[in-house]
Amino acid sequence: MPWREHPSPYRVWVSEVMLQQTQVATVRPYFDRFMARFPTVQALAEAPLEEVLKLWEGLGYYRRARHLHQAAKLIVTKHHGAIPSDEKALLALPGIGRYTAGAIRSIAFNIPAPILDGNVKRVLARLDDIETPIERAETERQLWARAAELVDPDQPGLFNQALMELGSLVCRPTQPACPHCPVSTFCQAYARGTQAQRPVRVPRKRIPHYQVAAGIVWHRADPDRFLIAQRPAEGMLGGLWEFPGGKQEPGESLPQTLTRELMEELGIQVEVGEKLTVVKHAFSHFRITLHAFHARHRAGEPQPLGVDDWRWVTVEEADAFPMAKTDRAILAKLTDSVKRNT
Ligand code: SF4
Repeated sequence: MPWREHPSPYRVWVSEVMLQQTQVATVRPYFDRFMARFPTVQALAEAPLEEVLKLWEGLGYYRRARHLHQAAKLIVTKHHGAIPSDEKALLALPGIGRYTAGAIRSIAFNIPAPILDGNVKRVLARLDDIETPIERAETERQLWARAAELVDPDQPGLFNQALMELGSLVCRPTQPACPHCPVSTFCQAYARGTQAQRPVRVPRKRIPHYQVAAGIVWHRADPDRFLIAQRPAEGMLGGLWEFPGGKQEPGESLPQTLTRELMEELGIQVEVGEKLTVVKHAFSHFRITLHAFHARHRAGEPQPLGVDDWRWVTVEEADAFPMAKTDRAILAKLTDSVKRNT
């Protein structure tokens, strides 16, 4: 893994943030591109947010990119451009929690700090055969204390990485390879045969599924241009650009949803036309089915009422704006249909 070579505080920090909720294979090309474009904290701090978001496009959980950018600025102004090794100072930076602070301190600074990610939680819950759900605060405290007790004082970074690897390769969520496990002789769950029931989890709630309408609103005077809007900086997918629209309310048809949302968010009246495409996507806490419609702009100059900004763009121009996967899929479909018709 590229971030394991020369594990400087900056490289460890960026890689650990990218690896949150994201698989190693997905992260690798993003990490390489990010390092090539922003090789130092200073380079990241000086870049426009939009460029950071563009490079992050497709990696999801965009708040991570905004926090990285904000934290880089703070590191430059408050810490003279050097990532601090002190836990308190690290935790004061946006997007750095106890896990990321522990990873930076142990891997990059060789400080015996514990870490606790999903893999480590599973290993420790099995080693100690913990019967309380791992989501509970008291279990989490117990696991942090155990991780702190175990961490190797001489090679903390190596130890923490080994513990994570043990979780990902041997002590897997299902079918852990106990007969080949190097710590099986200390494992209480293995001794008692309870490893399949550990860790204990709180049952998950049903994930809601929303129907969403989005509009490709065509300019009245310039038939090559359509409207895109920038989502509010704070909140989900903040700062990304999208085909404007929103969630269907009870009793509404999808064209009614789109008409209402465009009036609320941009103050414009439209006439909804044909459906271009349907895109499905699962976020961490809900799923959406996104219906994209062509629409004609009828009245009202766009205003940033529920969005941060807006632009009339061509398909080629739209390509340069950072967008979430769903909007990128709509744009790809739109680009195809525009090409077919020219
Ligand atoms: Fe996990 Fe099995 Fe090893 Fe215990 S013995 S730590 S359950 S792989």
